[in-house]
Amino acid sequence: MRRNKCEECNGLIKEKEVDYFFLGQNLGKYKAEVCTKCGEQVFGEEVVEKVQKKAKELGLWNLHAKVKVNQVGNSIAVTITKPISEFLNLKKGKDVDIYPENKKRLIIEIPY
Ligand SMILES: [Zn+2]
Repeated sequence: MRRNKCEECNGLIKEKEVDYFFLGQNLGKYKAEVCTKCGEQVFGEEVVEKVQKKAKELGLWNLHAKVKVNQVGNSIAVTITKPISEFLNLKKGKDVDIYPENKKRLIIEIPY
């Protein structure tokens, strides 16, 4: 299915090879329909499948996990699963910054 006009801004659509970013990792160049005006990129179904396969090979897939909150002394602890800790290169003893972004979201920042 080929679009000629951008649904966002009505700009002209051109087919281009663009970098596909997934979780901040560049997975290579793939064909996309790109708006020449606003830059909106739309990838085809076959590209999405290819990218998914690549992400799985690189261990970037299924990094989402549901975990329970545990009690540790007076504090509570959340388990970071192995795939997530490997992706983040996060090991025991490392110092991280932790702060709430809002009432529903907690940020853990890993300094380099
Ligand atoms: Zn556009």
